[in-house]
Amino acid sequence: MFHAYILVSKSGARAGFGHSPDFDWAYANTQAPTDLVVITPPVPVAFASLVAQEVDRGLAAAGRVRAGRGREPSVRVGLRTARSVLHALGLAGPAFLSPRPIWRAPPPDTGLAGIRIPPRSLVVESALALSGRSLLYEEAMRALASGGFSSLDKAHDLLAAICAEGLGLLVPAVSISPLGTRTCNRCGSSGPFASTPCAHCGRRACSLCLQCRSMGSARECVPLYLVAAHDRTSPHAGAVAEGVDLAMPHPLTDARRHAARMLRDWYIGDSAREVLVWAVCGAGKTEVSFSAIHSALASGRRVLFAAPRRDVVAELEPRVRAAFPGVTCSTFCGGSTGQRDYDARVILATTHQAMRFYRRFDLVILDEADAYPFAGSEALASAVYRSLAPTGRLVIMTATPSRGHLARVRSGVLPCIRIPARHHGKPLPEPEVVTVHGSDLLPTVAEIVGAGAGPGSPFLVFVPRRRQAREVAKYLLRKIPGARVEWVHSQDPARDDKRAAIVGGKCDVLVSTSVMERGVTVDGVDVIVCHADDDAVFDYRALVQMAGRAGRTAANPSGRVWFVCANESGHVRTAVGIIREMNAEAASRGLLVGEHSQVVSGGEATHRWA
Ligand SMILES: [Zn+2]
Ligand SMILES: [Zn+2]
Repeated sequence: MFHAYILVSKSGARAGFGHSPDFDWAYANTQAPTDLVVITPPVPVAFASLVAQEVDRGLAAAGRVRAGRGREPSVRVGLRTARSVLHALGLAGPAFLSPRPIWRAPPPDTGLAGIRIPPRSLVVESALALSGRSLLYEEAMRALASGGFSSLDKAHDLLAAICAEGLGLLVPAVSISPLGTRTCNRCGSSGPFASTPCAHCGRRACSLCLQCRSMGSARECVPLYLVAAHDRTSPHAGAVAEGVDLAMPHPLTDARRHAARMLRDWYIGDSAREVLVWAVCGAGKTEVSFSAIHSALASGRRVLFAAPRRDVVAELEPRVRAAFPGVTCSTFCGGSTGQRDYDARVILATTHQAMRFYRRFDLVILDEADAYPFAGSEALASAVYRSLAPTGRLVIMTATPSRGHLARVRSGVLPCIRIPARHHGKPLPEPEVVTVHGSDLLPTVAEIVGAGAGPGSPFLVFVPRRRQAREVAKYLLRKIPGARVEWVHSQDPARDDKRAAIVGGKCDVLVSTSVMERGVTVDGVDVIVCHADDDAVFDYRALVQMAGRAGRTAANPSGRVWFVCANESGHVRTAVGIIREMNAEAASRGLLVGEHSQVVSGGEATHRWA
């Protein structure tokens, strides 16, 4: 539990809060003679923090007790404010009856009543052990212990000293605003919170953040320590070459080489803090970031490669390790069993795990920025931004930028590097829009599938809702005898097996919700999107992703895509427009191979979408 208190010195009065006011008092007296008056009983850290914040405001409103005017007026303001804040939080009266401890500044040349202050060198060294991390109380204690720093009671003091020295920041894991609303300081979300019995503070109702619960309980009674990276080398770009090797697995295509060069120039140059890499589905954008990563590593910096989905991160690890031999690399995924190395130069993590870092990375590559659960999650976005060092740079990679990103690109705030061609140099299949009404939809789909499906030419049929997956699959089974048809959705326990079946040619038609919209490459597949105008589920970004499943492999670089719908909605038009525009740009830049190199579909390569 924590106390709020008032510190009074020659320079005036201010509020604070801490676990051990006597230690904080002793630490303050190493700087200047200071009195400390405790103004609350022991309360959860979120309460103490709110009281301190409100008392500071009260002191400012009261004309801030001026230097040398004694502590009584400020203590009166403090006690009055503390009472009203705690009363509003449901803690009233009797708690204040216990005597308030007061520590007076010791006379000159006397000791600090036996309180041992850790030497500054030890404080700095222990802060290094937590460097660049965001840690709940237990995690901080464990990190100090594994760094070889002192027994538990001393670790407590070390944490307080790290914060008193300004090397770290102590905040409640869940903080409370003056209006009573709660915010999780670990994941950045503003809810939902559960009010549950708590072993940590012993109360029957303690707020717990449900958004980041899978990573340990962030509660209003648990302190969170934010310790910025302190061991960074000179922030000067390209300063010291460290002899980091870059081993590209294979030569890049023209489109990717051009993008890689632009990205490295952006990183080395003194330009915008963020950049958008907009690559078509199947462009192979990961390797495009390797030159920029190489520049960062060569000048002694730290890199985070983050992606929303665990399978993407897992698949990335061997590629990054192979590309940067000799560079330490560690993977942070929920449920991963490997040893986590916080000191690794390259960290690969799900966007959730970015919450574990604080102002650490000089370069963050965010892959699939448009994918669930990152897209639309303000919490995950704030976690990724917070993991950046103050001078750090962010690369946002996506095949389908959000409207917000596109608006920023259009207004010139966000530079954009486009990769309009796939790795095999063939254009993206352009969707054929088929408009049919209600009862005609299933027969139309069956007709398309019936005409094309078979061994070696599988179909992915997307539907917006779970029940429709089964419905459509049953219909196709009836209408196309002999076809091997399966259906799948996100809750299906056999979904990985079904994914493997369609990839391995053991299934002809897979009817799926958007769960197969990413991360699936099926040789020779054609794609049908049923109810493509169901805007509530299929926005233009989902449509582009689903269409992007076709024609991905070099062996079968073409494929057909149908959007079947009752009306050609705005999202359908936008999706088709984006695909045509990318093809047109690829053709006009000479990035397509074979007969496609001269074909410019959809007119000029005008940047209507960005
Ligand atoms: Zn949270
Ligand atoms: Zn609690």
